[in-house]
Amino acid sequence: MVVAGHEERVITEVAKQLFIGGEWRDPALGATFKVEDPSTGSVLCEVADAGTDDAFAALDAAVRVQPTWAKHPPRERGEILRRAYELLMQRQEDLALLMTLEMGKPVPEAKGEIAYAADFLRWFSEEAVRIEGGFSTAPNGQARFLIMRQPVGPSMLVTPWNFPMAMGTRKIGPAIAAGCTAILKPAQQTPLSALALAQILREAGLPEGVLSVLPTTDAGGVTEPLLRDGRIRKMSFTGSTGVGRKLLEQSSEQVLRTSLELGGNAPFLVFDDADLDAAVEGAMQAKMRNIGEACTAANRIYAQSGIAAEFSRRLSERMGQLRVGRGTEEGVQVGPLIDAKAREKVQHLVDDAVDRGARVMVGGGPDEGAGYFYRPTVLSDVPQEAELSDTEIFGPVAPVITFETEDEALADANDTEYGLVSYVYTSDLNRALRVSERLETGMVGLNQGIVSNPAAPFGGVKHSGLGREGGRVGIEEFLETKYIGIGGVD
Ligand code: NAP
Repeated sequence: MVVAGHEERVITEVAKQLFIGGEWRDPALGATFKVEDPSTGSVLCEVADAGTDDAFAALDAAVRVQPTWAKHPPRERGEILRRAYELLMQRQEDLALLMTLEMGKPVPEAKGEIAYAADFLRWFSEEAVRIEGGFSTAPNGQARFLIMRQPVGPSMLVTPWNFPMAMGTRKIGPAIAAGCTAILKPAQQTPLSALALAQILREAGLPEGVLSVLPTTDAGGVTEPLLRDGRIRKMSFTGSTGVGRKLLEQSSEQVLRTSLELGGNAPFLVFDDADLDAAVEGAMQAKMRNIGEACTAANRIYAQSGIAAEFSRRLSERMGQLRVGRGTEEGVQVGPLIDAKAREKVQHLVDDAVDRGARVMVGGGPDEGAGYFYRPTVLSDVPQEAELSDTEIFGPVAPVITFETEDEALADANDTEYGLVSYVYTSDLNRALRVSERLETGMVGLNQGIVSNPAAPFGGVKHSGLGREGGRVGIEEFLETKYIGIGGVD
């Protein structure tokens, strides 16, 4: 342990056991694993390591409690979420520090994520009381249709390390609001935020057994037996497309309801007629939010030939001014990447682009320090064939590709199996709508560099996923529709 003062306190205060059936427990096999600080590579603490037996204990609790939880008054379900929202906001500073320590993002960004995460709980606290059904008369007039919405049932939730708190609340919020019990398996690299969230939900009055949280080094050993068990009825996953595909396959055996929020390869289109200041600002947000480790990160920046050189110059200037360092230090804007493997991948993609003719405008290599730092990088004249054109970079590297025509930009932008989000900068309204309609993505940032909002339906098409999280449709993912045909009505 190399942490001190405030850092030590937030680490000490978070529970390190498994959260099963409303209580904190040691794992059946007594195992633990280490959680590291990616800015120093040092060990922060050890947490309990769940195995298959623990997973079944969590499942038993979820199944046992499901019928009573489904009947729990929606208003009270909403009030639990509302209290949890308030507790998250009251503890925003401590929770942000905890997240920075395990994940690396600068504290101000971590605070932003706590607010974003809390807002999912607030949004779904409001949705809990707006689950509506329907009533109608059959076309022949001889029957009535009563349509009701019911919780889908015990749900398996799997989340990634890049947004350790928000990816949890984006699933737990609608599950609780809909009346589903849930088991959360957080990412191995960032279990502390999820454990802190379980503590808060318990304090907010969540009945025992409604939620279990299982950090583990054996992701498959915890999730696969449950997905194949038959008692889990829903699988909701956020993470890479490869793992998502595997879980979708496993979910097919019991024909589970599935929601998948997968990888992205966002194109960021800047047309000659764009407000260049706004486009550079938007590119900084779309690229550098979360150190570039976001599914929504601008992965390919397409700049029209009239502004490409000036755009690259201005972007490079801004990127070159960013301060890299440990996320707990004052003024730091870019933290470390999550691990050595992530940094090697980023370096490989930069080297490949340069070998194919790209020019390094700024950055281009690792930064000093014991952690996995990488310098904010801008590459210009990137050929479309470069490997990073169809690989998620997941780091602070902005490749700029020059294009001539709208059709060419659209063809290149859509030339990927991913379809999460795209960004368009133009001041021509016709072009804005035309291009937005033709982009094959679930979301478009039109003259804005951030699309994430709890009140909006977040999600992708193609290999970027199935279903939506947030917005009015977010709760639908955790509800089934039942229709009751009423006969004998005169
Ligand atoms: P990942 O490797 O797919 O891991 C995501 C989660 O799946 C982790 O909890 C991981 O556990 C677990 N997992 C890995 N293998 C598994 C298996 N065989 N069975 C069950 N669970 C398994 O992704 P990541 O590296 O953490 O996150 C980055 C990816 O997430 C990127 O592709 C990014 O685009 C995507 N993402 C998408 C969204 C979205 O909303 N579309 C949001 C955020 C991130 P371990 O930690 O133990 O490996």
